[in-house]
Amino acid sequence: MEERNELLITRLEEWYVDNARDLPWRRTCDAYCIWVSEIILQQTRVAQGYDYYLRFIERFPDVATLAAADEDEVMKYWQGLGYYSRARNMHAAARDVVERFNGAFPSNYDDIRSLKGVGDYTAAAIASIAYNLPYAVVDGNVYRVLSRLFDVDIPIDTPAGKRYFADLAYAMLHREQPRIYNQALMEFGALQCVPSGCDCTRCPLQDFCVAYASGRVGNLPVKQGKYR
Ligand code: SF4
Repeated sequence: MEERNELLITRLEEWYVDNARDLPWRRTCDAYCIWVSEIILQQTRVAQGYDYYLRFIERFPDVATLAAADEDEVMKYWQGLGYYSRARNMHAAARDVVERFNGAFPSNYDDIRSLKGVGDYTAAAIASIAYNLPYAVVDGNVYRVLSRLFDVDIPIDTPAGKRYFADLAYAMLHREQPRIYNQALMEFGALQCVPSGCDCTRCPLQDFCVAYASGRVGNLPVKQGKYR
């Protein structure tokens, strides 16, 4: 990797150490807990998901407990979060883990990805955060930060855009520390490089940011919108 990008990554990870929010799922590397947090946060904001996560983990502390529970009770703990297929899929996946993996949460990407309700992003998040495996996460925050840092205007909602950003995210991945790097990049997008009105004058990555230099921050990322 280029020296410039190595410096960028170091700066990003230092920012994360100083600025990361103290969230309950960040105090553990347990794959089950990371999975639960990622599913809750798929369509839910952190502030709303926080208490749901704590209640859920208290009642279902491991995959065996979740698998053994009645679906009605699982749904009760999801009540109010919406997108109820998430809870149904998790419950089915927990039973699948018990059957296929003898109750041990899978520890490689392909097995994690094979669980119901787990897509590319969630599998990469669990593999990297729980097991420190070198998979790059690409969510809305990552699209925004990378598109601005490298001034990329390929629409993110097209197959070409998805491919481009998946490759860029992987090229930038800190292979030795994917656990920290992925979380740092997503947190940076959530707190600093926000959709609108971000304070670029106080940004620790400002001198790496091509969109800031060219005055195009507000134009990125680009969405085609019409694409299906
Ligand atoms: S300078 Fe602004 S646009 Fe660039 S990375 Fe920092 S916050 Fe994002």
